[in-house]
Amino acid sequence: MNVILQSLGNLRDLPMPTFNKIAIIVINFVAVSLVLTVLNHNKLKDRKSQIFVLMGISMLGWVDFAYLARIFGRMPEISIIFLKIAWLSTPFVFFFTYMTSTLLAREGKQNKIITISLLVVAIILGIATAFTNLTIAGIKYTNGILDIVYGNGFFPYLGGVFIMMFFTLAPLVRTKIQSKSKFFLIGVIIFYIMNLAFNITLPVFFHITNLYFLGDYSTIFLLGFTMYAILRHELFEIKVFATEALTLILWSILFIKIFFSQNLTQISIDSFVFALTIVFGILLIRSVRNEIKQREKLEELNKKIEELDKRKDEFLNVAAHELRAPMTAIKGYLSMLSEGDAGKLTPTQTDFLNEATNGNDRLIRLVNNMLNISRIEEGRMTYEMGDINLSEIVKIVHDDYLHEAKEKNLVLNLEVPRDVKDKVYVDKDRIFEVVSNLLSNAIKYTDKGSINIKLRNQDQKIIVEVEDTGPGISESDQQKLFQKFYRTESAVGKAKGTGLGLYVSRLLVEKFRGEIGVKSQTGQGSTFWFKLPLKS
Ligand code: ADP
Repeated sequence: MNVILQSLGNLRDLPMPTFNKIAIIVINFVAVSLVLTVLNHNKLKDRKSQIFVLMGISMLGWVDFAYLARIFGRMPEISIIFLKIAWLSTPFVFFFTYMTSTLLAREGKQNKIITISLLVVAIILGIATAFTNLTIAGIKYTNGILDIVYGNGFFPYLGGVFIMMFFTLAPLVRTKIQSKSKFFLIGVIIFYIMNLAFNITLPVFFHITNLYFLGDYSTIFLLGFTMYAILRHELFEIKVFATEALTLILWSILFIKIFFSQNLTQISIDSFVFALTIVFGILLIRSVRNEIKQREKLEELNKKIEELDKRKDEFLNVAAHELRAPMTAIKGYLSMLSEGDAGKLTPTQTDFLNEATNGNDRLIRLVNNMLNISRIEEGRMTYEMGDINLSEIVKIVHDDYLHEAKEKNLVLNLEVPRDVKDKVYVDKDRIFEVVSNLLSNAIKYTDKGSINIKLRNQDQKIIVEVEDTGPGISESDQQKLFQKFYRTESAVGKAKGTGLGLYVSRLLVEKFRGEIGVKSQTGQGSTFWFKLPLKS
């Protein structure tokens, strides 16, 4: 213990004036720039930036006047005034830190009573410090070290500060820490720890008062991290600020260096370097600004594109909707005609009618896919769920496509094992569309051979496979087939399509807690399959 006390005692004699001087200049520079950046960005429009500016001002009041008090240590009557201003500012730094904490961690939801009480505490502490001798009773200045004689109100003053600290940390700890409050929390913790160590523990309990400034200066961490938390999403603002500040510092250093040059050669080299940095500095700042301008433009364009995209979707949706009703009517009439409701048909007439039916079905499928996509993506889709026998649906789709397959000279088979379990809980029309998409693709992309539809059970599931003897699909394409608008290159040239069918099918099957996929090799045909859980 003695050793610790002794080494702490040695700390007391540590001369730090030069560091202190440089530090105070840097801190002022950084603090003012941070405040100006926030001001420049938000023009005090929101609460966060207002509080931030107040926090910066009270922090500078604290740090600068504490520094001045030491400088004027030899003139106690002036020094004590500066010290009191510093101590008056302190509670407000803690109060504004509390305000920022509620803004960041609780989205501004403050408990009014707590806020007003803490403000009252800060004001009372400020007034008591400024106009009475309760907190600071006097000062002693010996050998360049300023010691504060604390008054009776010192511990209540500390108590007040601790209460503010508590309410600052409380919302941060209680809420799930998001990244924006995380940065703020880091700043607060550094600030609190350094304050407790250098402003309270060392001076009050060990009489080491010459390290106070480390506590004071830790406010800069608080300010820096807070600004980062506030402007994190506008990082480029920070980027411009950092570039400009660093360039300015560099210029100043190089400029001053010229005056310390020893001889003419040195002067010319230093001037040359200075001139070069001026040129490159300007170029750098310009390029950063340009980048920001471009980014802003890009953002604007992006917004426009999003807007246009939305309108396009709306248009497609309305168009698809309007198309569907007449097409369904056409389907009805075509079917009545082919069933002979309007008189017996010649074989040629039947052929023509079948062609018309196929074309119309393709259109209906396309329109359905388009409508489904927009509904699913916008969350407007409603499902009419019910228990159905999947094999019945597959059978209907199979029959629907018999004619189209025959036209292409393809053999279309359906294999449903007698004992297959096929009860599933789905929306009948939607699952009809899925089977229909797979089968129509198989026919569309297969030039010769056959298409087999198979049903089988596996674990508590039913699998539907549509196997074709078409061109097959490469591994890399297989990965992407179920994405929106994706079409293989060979398909683009060969058959018309939109790249929507498989995507919608995937969304629907997944909605019914199933899976969809493909097995294939180039040149060996493809088997598209989907599985659904069986209704027990
Ligand atoms: P579309 O058929 O309208 O292009 P789909 O989403 O139904 O859209 O299919 C996406 C792509 O998958 C098709 O463009 C085609 O390249 C490929 N494809 C689908 N089914 C088959 C198949 N049976 N054989 C070969 N390629 C297929």
